[in-house]
Amino acid sequence: MNEFELIRHYFCFSTPDGRYPAPDADSSSPVALGVGDDCALLNIPPDRQLAVTTDTLVSGVHFTTDGPPGLIARRALRVNLSDLAAMGATPLGFQLALTLPALDRNWLELFSAGLAEDAERFACPLIGGDTTRGPLSITITMMGTVPRQQALTRSGANAGDIICVSGTLGDAALALEHLASPAADAYLLERYWLPEPRLTLGRLLGSRASAGLDVSDGLLQDVGHIARASGLTACIELEKVPVSSSLLHHKGDDAARRLAISGGDDYELCFTASERALAEIDSRAIGIGCRITRIGQMLPLSADGVAVICIDDGGHRLAIRETGYDHFQH
Ligand code: ADP
Ligand code: MG
Repeated sequence: MNEFELIRHYFCFSTPDGRYPAPDADSSSPVALGVGDDCALLNIPPDRQLAVTTDTLVSGVHFTTDGPPGLIARRALRVNLSDLAAMGATPLGFQLALTLPALDRNWLELFSAGLAEDAERFACPLIGGDTTRGPLSITITMMGTVPRQQALTRSGANAGDIICVSGTLGDAALALEHLASPAADAYLLERYWLPEPRLTLGRLLGSRASAGLDVSDGLLQDVGHIARASGLTACIELEKVPVSSSLLHHKGDDAARRLAISGGDDYELCFTASERALAEIDSRAIGIGCRITRIGQMLPLSADGVAVICIDDGGHRLAIRETGYDHFQH
């Protein structure tokens, strides 16, 4: 099997039978030309903007070489979809740059099947890529579209806006501690391997929230990006940070919430909105089955210039480090 046979066999699932659509075969289709030519061709409606994001997963750094290939593929895709969700964008298609140490058919079969499954689930076709030999690495470039002037950026928060987060935080960080354990909690493993890109919520927030992002590196660090980009200080109320019953069960209340503010890989959305916008977001979010929790408020930039502060339920400021949990003192 040579390089081209490999691509045809494993990575043409969005353009079956090698019958690539001709350029402009159907001008209403967002993908005019997929895998097989020098470039893919995309149709972008004039009232929308193209949103583009890339993430690389390197074996030994982001996943273990013996990790399940199907789950590695699905996670790589979902992590990129989460970036689209964070901007309020809708998926259009993605490119895959794959570096493989060897032609391992069993690995490729499982990887390709997982990727195809989620590409279909999220209506996001594979439209091209690159295949090379070397240490295992997976780069996905994801493209989506967003209505003009409605992309949700990090810089639009206003003093007084409420800070909210979707779902629960900390599960993926706990799962990481248990990945290799045969007795690992299935719910937690799923939270790590199959994060749910909050695409519907993202679209809802696009024109209503003032700023937002997806929580990939830990809440404090990520909310710090919103605060700095907006020239404000974010105040997080530790007790309000939502955690799952599974995380509570494993860690107890205090340690669970510490993990929830510092742990990464959750891919929930964190956003800011005015009280008025939030009333509308809350009422519409009920229909999409996504829990939204108020966890704090944006304040004018504090005198000491700190981007993120964390308080307990008595309003006392806790000693924290944005780069992860350091220690708490009252
Ligand atoms: P070129 O040499 O013109 O850059 P390639 O030989 O690298 O093209 O790739 C041939 C076609 O296969 C291109 O359309 C490219 O986008 C696609 N392709 C290559 N690798 C992958 C992959 N891993 N997944 C999907 N498409 C791929
Ligand atoms: Mg070429």
